[in-house]
Amino acid sequence: MSSTYQLPVLLYHRLVNESCVIGKHKLHVWEKDFRKQMQWLKDSGYQTITFNDLNAQSNIDLNKKIILTFDDGYVDNYTILFPILKEFGFIAVVFLVTACKQNDWSKAEGEPTVNLINIAQIREMSAYGIEFGCHTQHHVDLKRADKATQEKEIMGSMVDVEMMSGKKPITFSYPYGAYNDDTVQLVKQSGFKYGITTILGPDDWKEDLFRIKRIEVRPKTGLLGFKRKASGTYWSNGWISFLFGSLSNY
Ligand SMILES: [Zn+2]
Repeated sequence: MSSTYQLPVLLYHRLVNESCVIGKHKLHVWEKDFRKQMQWLKDSGYQTITFNDLNAQSNIDLNKKIILTFDDGYVDNYTILFPILKEFGFIAVVFLVTACKQNDWSKAEGEPTVNLINIAQIREMSAYGIEFGCHTQHHVDLKRADKATQEKEIMGSMVDVEMMSGKKPITFSYPYGAYNDDTVQLVKQSGFKYGITTILGPDDWKEDLFRIKRIEVRPKTGLLGFKRKASGTYWSNGWISFLFGSLSNY
């Protein structure tokens, strides 16, 4: 594995504290654990970047760079994540489900109802430097959707995110990590520069810009596990990825 292009892209969903309801899909990381992870990144000299940064400077030095991504745009991305990012001087990428105010798509599966961030919150985070990308309008499984639905959900979410954040989005995260050849074509044709999967892996991000891999941080990811995920040493330990490797695909 070449280390030249390796760029850890971490996957998170919700950050929670003691008062929050946790779902069965375990899409959360405790606030106190996240804070420790950010402290370790800071102490180790890491800088957070976004896909906008990659797009602006294709020869960017990736040494000690990392991308923090958050899927779905839960309200805790504003109430918990945003203050911590400001405290540490970090930035992140948040993928919005643009036509929902709550996680309507996962309620039927028994997940607790959680609000999504609103436009005022998105604008404030965007002005600070948070990148907003797209995650469809209704959190659709694009792999199972017909082409017309895919097109509507992909292009519609692009228009929505530009309106909501005030900036044209260049990054698309496939809901459930699900896509087919049509999906990838539509994402490219719509003008996105990056397609983000839930395929587990260290990222040679130049290998396929529309199938970028991520490393999920889970509620049980300890600080040692986090260090391995963030630094890339995780990948030299096959048994660790065997034990902790599968992604949640939400
Ligand atoms: Zn999602």
